[in-house]
Amino acid sequence: MKAIRRFTVRTVLPEPLRPLEELVLNLRWSWHHETRDLFRTIDPALWEAVRHDPVRLLGEVAPGRLDRLAEDRRFLRRLDGAVEDLRDYLTAPRWYQERGPDVAVAYFSPEYGLTAALPQYSGGLGILAGDHLKTASDLGVPLVGVGLLYRHGYFSQSLSPDGWQLERYPSLDPNGLPLTLLREDGGTPVRVVIGLPQGRDLHAQVWLARVGRVPQLLLDSDVEDNDQAARDITDRLYGGGGDHRLLQEMLLGIGGVRAIRAYCRITGHPAPEVFHTNEGHAGFLGLERIRELVSGQGLTFDEALEATRAGTVFTTHTPVPAGIDRFPRELIQRYFGGVNEEADVPVERVLALGAEDYPGGDGTVFNMAVMGMRLAQRVNGVSRLHGEVSREMFGGLWGGFDTSEVPIGSITNGVHAGTWVAREVLDLAAREVPEVVESGRGWRGVRDVPESEIWRIRRVLRERLVLDARRRLRESWRQRGASEAEVSWIDDVLDPDVLTIGFARRVPSYKRLTLMTHDPGRLRALLLDPERPVQIVIAGKAHPADEGGKRLIQDIVRFADAEDVRHRIVFLPDYDMALGRLLVQGCDVWMNNPLRPLEACGTSGMKAALNGGLNLSIRDGWWDEWHDGQNGWAIPSADGLADPARRDALEAAALYELVEDHVAVTFYDRDGAGLPRRWLEMVKHTIATLGPKVLASRMVRDYVEGYYAPAAASARAMAADGYAGARALASWKRRVAKAWPGVGVEHVESGGEQSMRAGARLPLRVVADLGGLDPSDVAVEAVYGRVDDADDLVDPSHLELAEAGPAEDGRLRYAGEVPLSRSGAFGYSVRVVPRHPMLAGRAEMGLIALPPAPHGMTNGDLR
Ligand SMILES: *Cc1c(COP(=O)(O)O)cnc(C)c1O
Repeated sequence: MKAIRRFTVRTVLPEPLRPLEELVLNLRWSWHHETRDLFRTIDPALWEAVRHDPVRLLGEVAPGRLDRLAEDRRFLRRLDGAVEDLRDYLTAPRWYQERGPDVAVAYFSPEYGLTAALPQYSGGLGILAGDHLKTASDLGVPLVGVGLLYRHGYFSQSLSPDGWQLERYPSLDPNGLPLTLLREDGGTPVRVVIGLPQGRDLHAQVWLARVGRVPQLLLDSDVEDNDQAARDITDRLYGGGGDHRLLQEMLLGIGGVRAIRAYCRITGHPAPEVFHTNEGHAGFLGLERIRELVSGQGLTFDEALEATRAGTVFTTHTPVPAGIDRFPRELIQRYFGGVNEEADVPVERVLALGAEDYPGGDGTVFNMAVMGMRLAQRVNGVSRLHGEVSREMFGGLWGGFDTSEVPIGSITNGVHAGTWVAREVLDLAAREVPEVVESGRGWRGVRDVPESEIWRIRRVLRERLVLDARRRLRESWRQRGASEAEVSWIDDVLDPDVLTIGFARRVPSYKRLTLMTHDPGRLRALLLDPERPVQIVIAGKAHPADEGGKRLIQDIVRFADAEDVRHRIVFLPDYDMALGRLLVQGCDVWMNNPLRPLEACGTSGMKAALNGGLNLSIRDGWWDEWHDGQNGWAIPSADGLADPARRDALEAAALYELVEDHVAVTFYDRDGAGLPRRWLEMVKHTIATLGPKVLASRMVRDYVEGYYAPAAASARAMAADGYAGARALASWKRRVAKAWPGVGVEHVESGGEQSMRAGARLPLRVVADLGGLDPSDVAVEAVYGRVDDADDLVDPSHLELAEAGPAEDGRLRYAGEVPLSRSGAFGYSVRVVPRHPMLAGRAEMGLIALPPAPHGMTNGDLR
């Protein structure tokens, strides 16, 4: 019989053990080995059985055991030490305290991967968000995380007898998780309320998780004030479509800001000045902040928009259209209009923010990424290549500007070493405190470590993976209906001395899970090679609605089920952080073969690199940037090819060849002492040179310096003197936009470009019409440099021309000298762009005026 209600009965800890609660409720245990050791001591067998989940451990440990521990002086001393260490960690000044500025940051994400014990993530986006919070904590960045608490999280995966993915959604009781309810001073739970159509209200309570120093607020609509439909809004991560998804995002964005306000009011935490949105799902947070400013500060919508944008950072994460949230415009109309319309936030303005009103856009949809870019003054992609792809993809929002000038930057993702790096490797690389490793300095020390020591640890990790893989495989086969007698072969599956390749990720089609089986005979030969065999460990979940992805999993599982190869290739179900950790630590080679350039960054390969694994990957995402020829292998990509089948065939063939002729050869090439010298050289090189780059501490520092600090400065400039800055900028932008159709470059002349030599200066004289604007409102610039065959300027330089007196009819003269620093084909143009100290860049407003083009084109055509 099914229970109709479910709840958690909390263990009452004996008084001397009460400090355990403080330890359990701070998720620092998820990356702090000493605290985990302490938990393990409580009951080692149970610790394994509950999969390293301390809340479950305390819930299930025998009371007698607790009573004994309460009298165990040694245990109590260790407990005291652990609590003291945590408190030190929470209060000691860190990198940010030395660096300043003292700016609080709010970080919004629809999913967080913090630990396998909190299954609130589906893949890379969530893992990244989790690593971001942990690293902010390590560095002392005063960040507050905001998200949703999904009552069924993301699904856990198993397989049917014929290899089809089955999904099970766990029922999570927040009282059985390391969370506390956010309460008012008087003890009543905080309620966040947002309006819905037809006069309905959506209520949510707020759970507080502690991620080291970083508080994380998770909104939960499963409260009694809500009707059943509203209670189900936070049921699953990426569960429904349409309305359901929109409601989740309204709760995350709008409710999230309200939850922060409540949290700051109750705890005295400083109000965030910078709001960072991890992908577009939380974009409505900008609307809520605009509403606050209009109703609270008496600003107009446009003034509030400027104040909000200045302090907002938007990170885009995918060039895959299916990864971008788009809603039918009617849906936005329904939820943000009608009786639910906020007078201060007219639905027309909301719709305009998400409109794809550029060439190639779809006029019927509301695009969350587009809104994110309009609500944020600073935008970035997540690797250098992804930055380029994003500038291309979203360039329409800044029409008229060359792609290279589209104001989307990039910060390459990183991973949290404490979470992903094997303890053995951490000890080896640092032999000091983890903070040293986080700072990146410790990694260079690997060069002095004896190679035999590295090889020994690599074997320990590979063997751990092999043993755990057997356990998981046995469990999976039992679940698929095999009897104990039928699974005895699993005892010999995988070999701790065979070259081990890992492939684990979500299963969207662009990641091409089955590229490796493109030529099954070829793969079989690699696996069964008598001298240089290869073994492959695979994991991955398909989105529950993605039948195609499930078919790919089934194909792989069927291949791996075959008797002749099943000892060399395994699919392990239920890819999560725990399995991920095991894989990135134990595999010798981490394989990745996405369709370039659809992998925005990818982070699992970074985790492998930090553990001494070598990457074998298509040059996409981070690998495009940091593959250096010595730290692994680049699979040649046929990304110019239009025929996808042919492309797969070529890339698969290249993959087999690399594995056979390079990867396996290097791995099995041993010296007299049995060591693969060349391989270990590559491992050392990887750890020493990639190590510091792929750390999340590098990433978070980049965000602080490149985005948070400038955004805070802009936000402060907007807010000063009763938002005088925001008022001034809004009215200036209105004036400039209105005058812009009258702005033009009328006449350009230069002095004798026929006979110029490198090193000379080309004088330019320009007549510009400012359309009634003041000269201080614009910059008149020469754009110059190398030109290609089509006369396009390639990576041009810019030179601001100086005002040189009046011309006829109120026009102005400008002049300057363009340096001809190189020989060869050279070209220039002239443009007028808006200029204001509060703009983050020249392209921000998307306004540009160019000279009348040759060949009878007009400015309008060029734009
Ligand atoms: C790291 C990680 C990811 C993201 O890895 P990609 O390389 O971006 O695919 C996804 N899921 C889990 C469980 C991870 O640990």
